[in-house]
Amino acid sequence: MEVAEGVHQLIIPMRFNPLGRTYSYLLTDSATLIDTGVPGKDAYAALEKQLAENGVKPMDLRKIILTHLHNDHVGLVEQIKHHSQAEVLAHSSALERLKEQALLYENMYEMTTSELEILGGGNLQQFLSRFEHSFREAPEPTPIDATLEDGETMRLSGTSIKVFWTPGHAQEHICLYDADRRMLFSGDHVLPKITSNISLHTYQQGDPLADYLASLKKVENLPVDLVLPGHERTFTNLPERVQQLKTHHKARCDEVKSALRTGDRTVYQVSSKISWESRPWPFMDFWTKRMAAAETYAHLVYLRNRGEVSEKMREKVLYYSLA
Ligand SMILES: [Zn+2]
Repeated sequence: MEVAEGVHQLIIPMRFNPLGRTYSYLLTDSATLIDTGVPGKDAYAALEKQLAENGVKPMDLRKIILTHLHNDHVGLVEQIKHHSQAEVLAHSSALERLKEQALLYENMYEMTTSELEILGGGNLQQFLSRFEHSFREAPEPTPIDATLEDGETMRLSGTSIKVFWTPGHAQEHICLYDADRRMLFSGDHVLPKITSNISLHTYQQGDPLADYLASLKKVENLPVDLVLPGHERTFTNLPERVQQLKTHHKARCDEVKSALRTGDRTVYQVSSKISWESRPWPFMDFWTKRMAAAETYAHLVYLRNRGEVSEKMREKVLYYSLA
């Protein structure tokens, strides 16, 4: 689908994920692709077909710009590079992230097991042990040829794109702004309906929710007529959507605090009190609970850093209370 002159939205199917699809964007004048979709045959076939509809072969691609390194956005990079000389670009922090990932993966299973205990889900460790093998397989690092910096403008044939570094959903996340066409490629930073997952693991550093809220500020007032996200659908009301996302996180923080009104709680205990959009906590499977707990932990760390909750460690388990 042509969303603006020379800009095509490509639909890449994503099985085993409720979102069902990701979007890549093809800028025909410069033979540039923004994000690639998940790995796999179906995804590559869908990409190839839609490129062909626009008179482009994978071998013609000159650049691939990655909004962030999650698998559903970088999954076809290797395969495209196999057929083309395309240069892969991502934010400079993506390189640090790849290094960090390589180091972490050596002990991923051990760290994940101890994280369960730290967050108060120690009773689920038995379940995790059945999946030890999958934690032992290190993912292939995404090949990155050149890096982008916040505020940089890339001059492409037919247009210029300004890079906004928007950490939060992922540390290396960027949004790409086309001022001439008043368009923002928002990746997973701002989606029209769902809220991007903002999570933290105990083996990671930082305050991703604080980063995310600061990153929302960076884009909310850009003169934009059309937002082109990585999922769901294109939309127009950027400032209003940003406002809704801020309200959502504020409400989530309030829910987290009210879960602490009756005393010290672990991250898993707090998570069980949150009104999750997907499904209620008791009906979540192990993996969804793990993701939900990582989101709760990100909110607790944010509130701890702001002095609103206090944190203490007792017998290897973190407990939170109202400050
Ligand atoms: Zn995504």
